[in-house]
Formats: sequence, structure tokens, C-alpha cells
Amino acid sequence: MAFKLPNLPYAHDALEPHIDAKTMGIHHGKHHAAYVSKVNAAIGGTTMGDKSIEDLCKEHSDNAAVRNNGGGHYNHTLFWSIMASNGGGVPSGALADAINAAFGSFDEFKTVFSNAAAARFGSGWAWLCKKTDGSVEVCSTANQDNPLMPDAGCDGVPILGLDVWEHAYYLNYQNRRPDYIQAFFNVINWNAVAKNFEG
Ligand code: MN
Repeated sequence: MAFKLPNLPYAHDALEPHIDAKTMGIHHGKHHAAYVSKVNAAIGGTTMGDKSIEDLCKEHSDNAAVRNNGGGHYNHTLFWSIMASNGGGVPSGALADAINAAFGSFDEFKTVFSNAAAARFGSGWAWLCKKTDGSVEVCSTANQDNPLMPDAGCDGVPILGLDVWEHAYYLNYQNRRPDYIQAFFNVINWNAVAKNFEG
């Protein structure tokens, strides 16, 4: 079964002024679409053709085309889903408890996550992951790697991710990646992240 580019759950301009409509249009319609098309080309007609995107990341990240493009499809699908026009604020409930247990406070989590995103050299992602013991941790990966990949250097299942490739912010922020990271916190859909955490 070939993968399909998922529709965005909001309009291109829904995340303005934090993430601009032109960036969203190119990012989703060109970059994400290319990952979908290339992962389909990589798995078509092979024994990988029936795998879920999660299992491709877990089991076949030694295949460079699957790693880069399957990772790209998984990562961007998560990314779109954890943002919203009415996002921002702070988490509540069990997710808030887990963040406080791991970091001491939401503000300290924000600092750790922002530093991970800012310190990623070149292209990559920052993540908040849920580990098997139910705790959460922040990590970061290069390129289109993600924590599902056994050798990515991160544990757990991503419940929040931030794309820090230049294609995610350069039109609006140029070299000011820290400003983009700060703005991201205004569009995080904590209800969606909480569902990922509870799921
Ligand atoms: Mn991207």
C-alpha cells in the first residue's frame, strides 16, 4: 500500500504569524510530498511494501532511502498534527505531571527542548518522547532520523517534534532559528500531544 500525503488539518495561513503560509505551502506540498513519493518508490515491489510507516522506521532504517524518506514522512505527519491555530499555553493532566516529574517545571522543559532544537547542527529535529516506563525525555536527531530508529540515539516514542531544517523557517526567520523555536511554542496543540502521550 502506497503512502499518501495527509491533508493538513488547517489552512496554510492558520499558524500565522508564527509560521507563515508560504512556508507551510512549500513545506507540506513540496517537501513532505517528495518524502512520500520517494519512500513509495523505495518500498514498491519489495517485502517492505506492506509495512506501516512506524515499522519501516523501526525495522528498515538501515536502508538509506527508507531512513531519509520514510523518516521524513513519519516526522512531518507528526509535526502537522501537533500544531493548531489556537495552540500554545501549557499542557495539563497526566502529560503535565510527566513533564514536571522529568524537568521540574514547564519552563525548564521549554528551556531544555529549545536548547536541543537550537543546538542541532545542520538539519534535524527536536523531540519530546514517551519512554516505556511512562516518563518523558527530550532528545534530538539529525536529518530525517527519528527516535523509532534503533540507532538514532533517542529512546521512546515521539509525542512532540519540531522540524529545525532551514526549509521549515528560512523564508520568515532567515538565520534566526531561536526566534522560530520560540514562536513554535505559540502553536503547539497540547491536546494532541496529550493524546499521543496517553495513546
Ligand atoms: Mn521539514
